[in-house]
Amino acid sequence: METIISNHNRLVKSMEESNKKEGKLIIFTAPSGAGKTTIVRHLLKTRTDLAFSISACTRSQRYGEVNGLDYYFMSVYDFQKKVGEGEFLEWQEVYENQYYGTLKEEVERLRMMGKNVIFDMDVKGAWNIKKIYKKKALTVFVKPPTPETLFERLKNRKTEDEASMRKRLARAKEELTYERRFDLSLVNDDLEIALAQAEHIVEDFIKNGIQKVV
Ligand code: ADP
Ligand code: 5GP
Repeated sequence: METIISNHNRLVKSMEESNKKEGKLIIFTAPSGAGKTTIVRHLLKTRTDLAFSISACTRSQRYGEVNGLDYYFMSVYDFQKKVGEGEFLEWQEVYENQYYGTLKEEVERLRMMGKNVIFDMDVKGAWNIKKIYKKKALTVFVKPPTPETLFERLKNRKTEDEASMRKRLARAKEELTYERRFDLSLVNDDLEIALAQAEHIVEDFIKNGIQKVV
């Protein structure tokens, strides 16, 4: 009897879940140091209908980062195993031997919960997600006021050694050329202004969809 009731409850729950509206995708992309993480973290604090898509990555954990919260940190071997098993929606070798990827299961789980999913990813990954989800996904390019600002911000963040700084700045040149592929650009100069604009962009997209976003 108990089994019948619990099966019934499970069925009702899954029917309720499948009736919920699937969430949208909001992707913040930019070269390293432009301010994606700062903006995404702020948005997550301001809205309960957003959930962060935690990526898998193979770089080492920075001081203060939490496994399973900031990233799913894993070895290159485990990452490549997941690639082979088709577990990624997209993945990139963003820097030499440093892999980052979005897990299919992570995104679908959050969308089935009715959450709008927010992403922080490199320009190639963002472009690939946009091609899959089209109007269900909004891509926002976070633009530094000048390319030199990236260097200053990365230096002040104090998370990268010299070799890592060099890799990031070298890649930034190419990444800045991707701007025109995205739905919107958001200049992150004065942080307060950028955060307010990001809030407005998200609100508008969730309410009106891609057509009316200006
Ligand atoms: P990303 O995720 O794009 O690599 P972060 O969000 O980590 O960038 O920002 C890089 C550094 O710049 C961080 O130390 C952050 O506090 C700082 N920062 C972000 N936005 C601004 C801004 N508008 N003005 C000054 N510093 C900023
Ligand atoms: P960081 O090492 O600074 O956390 O991230 C380096 C770069 O990898 C950033 O541009 C970040 O947005 C990107 N990144 C993080 N997660 C993903 C992901 O799942 N897929 C892709 N393609 N890039 C990601």
